[in-house]
Amino acid sequence: MPRRADILLTNAIVLTMDEALRTFDPGAVAIQDDHIVAVGPAEDMNTGLAVGEVIDCQGKVLMPGLVNAHTHVPMTLLRGLADDLRLDVWLMGYMLPVERQFVSPEFVRLGTLLACAEQIRSGVTTFNDMYYYEADVARAAADAGLRAVCGQTIMKFPAPDAPAFEDSLAAAREFIREWRAHALITPAVAPHAPYSCTPEILRASAELAVEFDVPLHIHIAETSFEVENMRRENGMPVVPYVKKLGLLEAKVIAAHCVHIDPGEMRTLKHAGAGVAHNPSSNLKLASGFAPIQKMLESGLAVGIGTDGPASNNDLDMFEEVRLASFVAKAASGDPTAVPAATALEMATRIGAKALHIGNLTGSLEAGKRADLILVDISTAHNSPRFRRNPGNAYAQLVYAAKSTDVTDTMVNGKWLMRDRQLLTLNETDLLAEARQIAQRVDSFLMEREQSVLSKLIALGGSMEAESFEVQVKVRVTDPDVVAEAMRKPEIEVTAFKHYRQYDEYFLFENERQGRLRFREDDLINDGGEVANVRSRLTLIGQQREGSLAGDVSLSRSRYLAPAAHTLRFYREYFVPGTLVTIQKDRRRWHVRYQDTEFFVNLDTVEQPDLGHFLEIKSRTWSRRDAERKADLLGRLLALLGLSGQEVVLRDYLELASGSSGAGLEEREGTVKRT
Ligand SMILES: [Zn+2]
Repeated sequence: MPRRADILLTNAIVLTMDEALRTFDPGAVAIQDDHIVAVGPAEDMNTGLAVGEVIDCQGKVLMPGLVNAHTHVPMTLLRGLADDLRLDVWLMGYMLPVERQFVSPEFVRLGTLLACAEQIRSGVTTFNDMYYYEADVARAAADAGLRAVCGQTIMKFPAPDAPAFEDSLAAAREFIREWRAHALITPAVAPHAPYSCTPEILRASAELAVEFDVPLHIHIAETSFEVENMRRENGMPVVPYVKKLGLLEAKVIAAHCVHIDPGEMRTLKHAGAGVAHNPSSNLKLASGFAPIQKMLESGLAVGIGTDGPASNNDLDMFEEVRLASFVAKAASGDPTAVPAATALEMATRIGAKALHIGNLTGSLEAGKRADLILVDISTAHNSPRFRRNPGNAYAQLVYAAKSTDVTDTMVNGKWLMRDRQLLTLNETDLLAEARQIAQRVDSFLMEREQSVLSKLIALGGSMEAESFEVQVKVRVTDPDVVAEAMRKPEIEVTAFKHYRQYDEYFLFENERQGRLRFREDDLINDGGEVANVRSRLTLIGQQREGSLAGDVSLSRSRYLAPAAHTLRFYREYFVPGTLVTIQKDRRRWHVRYQDTEFFVNLDTVEQPDLGHFLEIKSRTWSRRDAERKADLLGRLLALLGLSGQEVVLRDYLELASGSSGAGLEEREGTVKRT
């Protein structure tokens, strides 16, 4: 027993959360400086100890502060920005464009301070973070007085804080060097995920972590989609893949691990890696159920995390602990899985071990840092209380208590909240600043959402290419006769291709937005098989630009981009009012006729069944050129034996809508060419 202490917390229900799960009721904890010097029954501790300050805890629960094992704290500023979306639409459509525009050191600092206020209030004393400008996250966390493992993000895409991964790697090295002796901050390197990093980035990150003996924080096997891709591309699941690249040489913190098998669990255990389980995030994003009971049985240290507040949407660890227990029970069909005490261990001692700082925090034991909280369990929703089974205290905390029952929070021997008053942060100011940022983000997105074009541009990676073309289209009764006519000597065929084309038209309520076409082109080879598939997006202006002699029309295509995402992605991102599907077989000739290039398309529209058409088109750049080409188009039609044929002024979409009544405005009909 030590002789003296600065603070004695006494008359508490002490849950030490140590390996033996010792409890003392009434119990006491003695603190000297930044660490705990003694823990035990109150009556033993009240005598023979010179104490600076005695605090009567009035029968509250005194326990270690909670460890939030995985989060992205600055995203508090994006909380509630976009929800109920699939991961790719949420990330590519909203988070990344907004982050590219707004994330700065100031943004990160404000978001972190806000997150610290929320976490101190809800009894979190340590969090494990991954974001951009992580040195600013560290500075803000240290200013707020919280303990944190701060991982500088590294990935293959340009990030808000680094144009290339070499820059973030250099920043991570600098950050680690600067912060590694700090009392509260454990710097770390955070390659985002195997799918967002190259093998080179993963190797370099592992080497950096090993060189400085700091943790390496990474997302692993979050979705089954990720695992399927990994198997297809590298012939193995995610854990063996990162092991092959030397990642497991480092002190790994693997976030999620929703889809790992028993062999991967053994590999992680053998490497001494920690796992961060995120039940809310996994439920909200429908990622699946992590096999945490099996992981715990295999001896893995599994902590619990909230994940970022944009995908949760809060940093409430009481809620996460409860869900960790409930989800494990529901997913395994076994109500004895992950009992309350185990869930609470995961959020304290085991969580700290998963972060590789189990020597510092996670339980109330002499020698560990004084990271602790007081919880008032005398309220109606916590009452009454039974003492028959010592496990009742854990059940009470996990199944009934709320984060708002936390009254006091101490980190490293320093009070951050007393009697629900925050001592290191001005919450009113932080909330006011956050509202201002939210307004700016709101107007940025509202402006963007006003037009399909700006939403398309926001996705990045596309190109603007306005083009004009002259075009004539006629109905054809026998396509083979036309195909035969293409052999005429006046027509020089420079290329021929056969496609099956699948078009999805997105129509919007405001017709001035234009129409977005997602086209999949399946190139058919001579053997009639699909040789190549490509897809692209075209934003088409609603208005025809005009018509020329001989019913030749001039049209404008406003925007063209390779389709980097799936049709499903674009459907969920653009949310069109109406969708129209058109499927056709297209034979396409590139020809030269009278020194001018034309595309000749012989189409059979199969869905809806519209019949056969011949389209002749040519790119144009001036009115004069368009008029010259219009004349040539007429002559080409005659050469193919199609003059006098019915000219169709409507495009396939309009013809389809006319026949299916899909709500398009009725336009000019077909006219007889004279
Ligand atoms: Zn995450």
